[in-house]
Amino acid sequence: MNIILFGPPGAGKGTQALRLVRDFGMIQLSTGDMLRQAVQEGTEVGKLAEKIMKEGKLIPDDLMNRVLGERLDKPDTQNGVIFDGFPRTKPQVEALDKLLAERHRKLDCVIEIKVDEEALVKRIVGRYICAKCGAGYHNELHRPKAEGVCDICGSSEFKRRPDDNEEAVRARLIEYREKTAPILPIYEARGIAYHVDGMLPMDEVSEEIEMILKEKGAKPTVSN
Ligand code: AMP
Repeated sequence: MNIILFGPPGAGKGTQALRLVRDFGMIQLSTGDMLRQAVQEGTEVGKLAEKIMKEGKLIPDDLMNRVLGERLDKPDTQNGVIFDGFPRTKPQVEALDKLLAERHRKLDCVIEIKVDEEALVKRIVGRYICAKCGAGYHNELHRPKAEGVCDICGSSEFKRRPDDNEEAVRARLIEYREKTAPILPIYEARGIAYHVDGMLPMDEVSEEIEMILKEKGAKPTVSN
């Protein structure tokens, strides 16, 4: 099953994707994570992307499409993936159609996580993750149970994204409004768009998403 988690920065796409990985054994394909890794490794792509990402702008479509195509050629994506952060523009929608068709795959659904924009800046500016297992935390909204220790894996190392400051977040929201939000009607017209309320508590958002996936035929790998 190939699905897109759709929504503005801070909507909870990454968090929900991790839960689907855990509960449905799906693969998460986060273009943001792929680019951050490229920056860390100092690859050609990373060098091109670093400044653009810091400013909260979008990476050029042709580069992004190439990176995604190469990732889709890896065998672990064969049984389906969760696209988290792609597509973000109309040319990327077309590129994804082509990339999937060339590999005899298809898109099953697009799930929009709807959120109130005002809440996003606060959510993003305070967030950080465990450097070891990726569990998400927030300065005010969700602190670890024991100060400085990850609830999940016990690590005491945490990290923040360089683009999670207010200025970059505002730029990311503008990019979302101007270039990304307008692609949703394309999927609505195809009858594969679903919507969940991202302002609900995280567990309830997960339940809504899981209901959609089960309706579409996805089978959980664990019972919960
Ligand atoms: P994310 O982790 O999804 O919030 O992405 C972080 C940053 O990576 C974005 O602000 C963009 O600079 C870049 N990025 C990630 N995915 C894409 C994409 N599909 N198209 C263009 N830029 C992207």
